[in-house]
Amino acid sequence: MQIKVTRAAQLKAKPDETRLGFGQIFTDHMFNMDYSLDQGWHDPRIEPYSPIAMDPSSMVLHYGQAIFEGLKAYRNPAGGIQLFRPRANIDRLNRSARRMCIPEMDPDLVLESFKTLLRIEQDWVPRAPGTSLYIRPTVIATDPFLGVRASHTYRFFIILSPVGAYYAEGFNPVKIWVTRDYVRAVRGGVGEAKTPGNYAASLLAGEEAHQAGYTQVLWLDGVEQKYIEEVGAMNIFFVIDDELVTPALNGSILPGITRDSVLALARHWGIKTSERRISIDEVVAAHETGRLKEIFGAGTAAVISPVGELRYGDQILAVGGGEVGPLSQRLYDALVAIQYGKALDPMGWVEPV
Ligand SMILES: *Cc1c(COP(=O)(O)O)cnc(C)c1O
Repeated sequence: MQIKVTRAAQLKAKPDETRLGFGQIFTDHMFNMDYSLDQGWHDPRIEPYSPIAMDPSSMVLHYGQAIFEGLKAYRNPAGGIQLFRPRANIDRLNRSARRMCIPEMDPDLVLESFKTLLRIEQDWVPRAPGTSLYIRPTVIATDPFLGVRASHTYRFFIILSPVGAYYAEGFNPVKIWVTRDYVRAVRGGVGEAKTPGNYAASLLAGEEAHQAGYTQVLWLDGVEQKYIEEVGAMNIFFVIDDELVTPALNGSILPGITRDSVLALARHWGIKTSERRISIDEVVAAHETGRLKEIFGAGTAAVISPVGELRYGDQILAVGGGEVGPLSQRLYDALVAIQYGKALDPMGWVEPV
């Protein structure tokens, strides 16, 4: 399928690269493609960035049938643009699609849509240290219908947003709140799909955590509220003695690409890793006996997010004495160097645009 391109008549002024936040500025163009029962996915096209006119009865607005992805384009030292494991994002997009009864897309066409859009928007990939161009592919159900069933029509779109350095104020440990009042997902539910409702369901717990002075929520399992699951938009890792532990993918956890990359690098370095069930009680006990060395989150936005404090009920676990742990730092440095093309890519993770 040929991607048709319609250029914007006027281009926007580029923002100051040293003051970029996250997800507030969007580029000049977007990718669009439609689905209908008789034509399948059709009419892939790049057009000027613009609002989407929708019927108020569009199914996505009522029943939340939608999926999305998040990845970044990085500027390498030679001035070129590169992606990090984009096929893993595309595979996950199609797995989310299956779970949400959305028709799957041709992975080669989706990768081509990323690259074509990025080539047109290449001047939007920032050059300042730590910055990147965030890519947000999204699929929404568009049938104008209030009955409950899978839609027969969809829109797939991709928008781009230049984002700032996540650690503009330094690589500092964050404080995490372990919620006992809410759950994010249960096995058999939609926790392993990247679907908007998971985020809507997390907002109230997030607000309560913020009010208490914590930046993010750590979720426990939805059945016993005993086993660790993940943090809002990051997977979670613990260093206990000399073992790197992360919860196994059990059906309710989002299978993060950063999570997978952390495990692959740690194994490559000969570090003992395990994906298993880990209870909050085990974490508390490891802390009490001095065996809990590091905690960190892993996700595309922050790459590695060191955790300096965990609050569970009235217990406060201080981790790492306010310092970034050595493994957190080593993983962060290695991943960022590969993503920005500043180090060899032993795993073949980088995709040039
Ligand atoms: C996207 C996401 C992650 C992190 O996935 P990455 O592929 O590493 O960015 C973790 N948890 C949730 C709930 C997510 O939506």
